[in-house]
Amino acid sequence: MSVSISEVARPFVEGLAEGELRYQSCADCGAAQTLAHYACQQCGGESLAWRTSKGVGVVYAVTEVKRAPSDEYRALAPYTLVIVELDEGARLMGHATPGVAIGQRVRAGFFEHQDRQLVRFTPI
Ligand SMILES: [Zn+2]
Repeated sequence: MSVSISEVARPFVEGLAEGELRYQSCADCGAAQTLAHYACQQCGGESLAWRTSKGVGVVYAVTEVKRAPSDEYRALAPYTLVIVELDEGARLMGHATPGVAIGQRVRAGFFEHQDRQLVRFTPI
C-alpha cells in the first residue's frame, strides 16, 4: 500500500487552515523544504519532521500572471506570484502584493479563495 501525495502534504494544508506555514525539516542534514516529499531533496534522508515557519523571508522570484491558468484563478487575475526563501531556508510559492520586488523582505498572510486557504506575501 502506498501513501498518496495529498496524505504526505496534509500537515501543510492543515497548517494553512490554521494560519500557519509549515515546512519539512530533515533530521539528517538540516535542509528545509515546503513541498511535501517522502524524502529530503538534499540528502535523500527520510527522517522528515514538520515545523512551523515564522512566515518571514526574502523574495527570490516574481511573476506577474495576466491570464489565469484555470477557471479557479480567473477571478484573481491579474495577480502576482512570488517564490520566497523563508528565513528557515525553505522556498515557497505564493501570491503577493503587486509591485513586490526581488530581494524584498516579506511576511506571509492568508486569504480564502473558493474554500481554499492561499498564501499572500506582503512587504514588511
Ligand atoms: Zn537531508
